[in-house]
Amino acid sequence: MNTLAYAATSAISPLKPYRIERRQLVADDIQLDILFCGVCHSDLHMVRNEWNTTTYPVVPGHEIVGKVTAVGSEVKGFAIGDMVGVGCMVDSCQSCGNCHDGLEQYCDTGFIGTYNGKDRHGHAITYGGYSTNIVVSQKFVLRIPKSLDPAATAPLLCAGITTYSPMRHWKVLPGQKVGIVGLGGLGHVAVKIARAMGAYVVLFTTSKEKIADALRLGAHEVIISSDMTQMKLHKNRLDFILDTVAAPHDLDAFLALLKTDGTMTLVGAPAQPHPSPSVFSLIMQRRQLTGSHIGGIRETQEMLDFCAEHDITSDIELISIDEVNHAYERMLKSDVKYRFVIDMSTLKEQTT
Ligand code: NAP
Ligand code: ZN
Repeated sequence: MNTLAYAATSAISPLKPYRIERRQLVADDIQLDILFCGVCHSDLHMVRNEWNTTTYPVVPGHEIVGKVTAVGSEVKGFAIGDMVGVGCMVDSCQSCGNCHDGLEQYCDTGFIGTYNGKDRHGHAITYGGYSTNIVVSQKFVLRIPKSLDPAATAPLLCAGITTYSPMRHWKVLPGQKVGIVGLGGLGHVAVKIARAMGAYVVLFTTSKEKIADALRLGAHEVIISSDMTQMKLHKNRLDFILDTVAAPHDLDAFLALLKTDGTMTLVGAPAQPHPSPSVFSLIMQRRQLTGSHIGGIRETQEMLDFCAEHDITSDIELISIDEVNHAYERMLKSDVKYRFVIDMSTLKEQTT
């Protein structure tokens, strides 16, 4: 199926209109018309080949919300017209231990990414959500709760699950002190989720002008991370820290804030390495430094239902597709309030 998309053809090319082929539906496939797609900082890393893994042309987008337009013969529980979501994965081996445990993101053979992955059917490169439609195996399609606004829900498909999963895994509990580092797409959703989990939320930012927003979004306290006097107030006080920053920075400054046995989890994935943390940051209070990658499909549905229960969506700036290159530049300046979401109907409008 010939489909209109937005693609970059090299690491230095802007995204522009591009035609792609979507596969024909197989028995367990669902086809959807994409209504909204969030803009994740990972899209920018990938478009500019910052992780050295990009195959061009690349059609980014892994925060997809749309309406089902066709279902394969073996699809159960989804019908034409349903509002559904697709996140960062569109397939995995389905037979390894991790896939059986609902941890498709850690599939032994590697999951198939929504874009820049190798499609199992036809072995073409997968193309993401900056496009008008997509075909995905039903196992990787999520249900969007009816109470949630579809555009503001799109970012939950990556930013939501990437922050929810580690907070669940490391068992954030009511009353615990949780630090969130960086108030961008991931960070602002993390603040909302941590607050809904009952934590005392401390937001660390490099941007003074975000203080009022952070408090409005649910932080109990906001710390300017460059202010060492403010930072020291939290020494040995936090149970858990989630670091969402998209650029290299000093991890020791944050590790020092963990109490004994506290955990700091990195989800931000900068292109360049962080300066190595000092071993003393870890051994002095038996602290743990960990990482986490998105979340499994079962847990993604659990996160969406949790967000519906707590009325959580992303704070978004809805843009047209031709604004996406400018949005990338603003993202690099930490000028995101707090997730760009593309209104995909604007892609159709430009060409008709
Ligand atoms: P984003 O919206 O651009 O937010 C990143 C935030 O980091 C900024 O808003 C800023 O917050 C802070 N920051 C501090 N210094 C920065 C600098 N020099 N350059 C850029 N940001 C800086 O990005 P995002 O979409 O939330 O993604 C964050 C990172 O997570 C990216 O590296 C992305 O690839 C990664 N990611 C990982 C996973 C995973 O599975 N582990 C999933 C999705 C995304 P303040 O202004 O508050 O300081
Ligand atoms: Zn993402």
